Amino acid sequence: MKYDYLVVGSGLYGAVFAREMTDAGKKVLVIDKRPNIAGNIYTEDIEGIHVHKYGAHIFHTNNKTVWDYVNRFAVFNRFTNSPVANYKGELFSLPFNMYTFNRMWGVVTPQEAEAKIEEQKKAAGITNPRNLEEQAISLVGTDIYEKLIKGYTEKQWGRPCTELPAFIIKRLPVRLTFDNNYFNALYQGIPIGGYTQMVANMLDGIEVRLGIDYLENKEKLDKLADKVIYTGPIDAYFGYKLGPLQYRSVRFETEVLDMPNFQGNAAVNYTDRETPWTRIIEHKWFEFGKDAQGNDLPKTVISREYSSEWKPGDEPYYPVNDAQNGALYQEYKKLGDAEKNVVFGGRLGEYKYYDMDAVIASALERAGEQR
Ligand code: UDP
Repeated sequence: MKYDYLVVGSGLYGAVFAREMTDAGKKVLVIDKRPNIAGNIYTEDIEGIHVHKYGAHIFHTNNKTVWDYVNRFAVFNRFTNSPVANYKGELFSLPFNMYTFNRMWGVVTPQEAEAKIEEQKKAAGITNPRNLEEQAISLVGTDIYEKLIKGYTEKQWGRPCTELPAFIIKRLPVRLTFDNNYFNALYQGIPIGGYTQMVANMLDGIEVRLGIDYLENKEKLDKLADKVIYTGPIDAYFGYKLGPLQYRSVRFETEVLDMPNFQGNAAVNYTDRETPWTRIIEHKWFEFGKDAQGNDLPKTVISREYSSEWKPGDEPYYPVNDAQNGALYQEYKKLGDAEKNVVFGGRLGEYKYYDMDAVIASALERAGEQR
């Protein structure tokens, strides 16, 4: 049997691409090396709670086309991400906003907060931020950098903030208003029923084969289709022949606790350097309101996240988008562009710190070009 497309990886990029090409009348086969679909947005039911097994995912976007698209496959709840930062037992609101500034400095008005940030930025002598540390200080001053950013970032990335790109910290809003919504997004929520169900709906009617490692069976599998959509790591595709790209991996310690409420919030970030985990996720709060509904479940499931440098055998999660890896990626991209029948897509295929909405937008665009 001959397919038009072989989609390698059933994560968000692969599922959207497969849906689009199937709807365009093409014959598509999706394969995945894991025993389940949905890549890193896979959710697993534990004690009636959808556990984000490969890390917490909160859908947020400003792109109406993408929002309308995902709403075809799931109903979204009204979850709004508002993580809490725990610095040695002191709790701060995130993202950085008037509640955070009040807790840090006792300031009450936006003018006072702004003056405090300006004063600290000036004392640090930063005019043109060249790395994450300088960018952070110029956005929120040294106190917040020291307590809420430095430790967390160095645990998360395993590198000093002076060696990390400034764009990483620009993901977070800074507001002189009282607003704990982590995202500047018009649309936000969690799919009711879990992400796995959403991806299953996207793949409805499409042939999916699980437990198949593409790279180990490449020759045989390539014969099945005219084109390949590859969503795995681009350096792995080329047998790491130019050397490995760097990734961060995450290890999750997941526990079922015999209590209805462990931390009162979906995400608590541990921003000091000493606590070995970066954050604790309490999964039930993604899906259940903090009212009777959530508390009525007698148990709760939590995951501690430990960040580490990726090594062969680990799951890659975050590309390390610094200058050195950026240059190496460009070399791999040249090799990729020369593979005329292969599209490289998604966080790993494009070595890019994509959010889910950007992955979908990119898959829709590439699928549109194929028609
Ligand atoms: N960050 C931080 N302190 C926090 C949360 C985030 O310094 O409490 C920084 C850190 O460098 C992190 C980046 O902001 O890598 C982006 O955070 P985000 O929550 O967007 O990361 P993700 O959820 O993708 O891991």
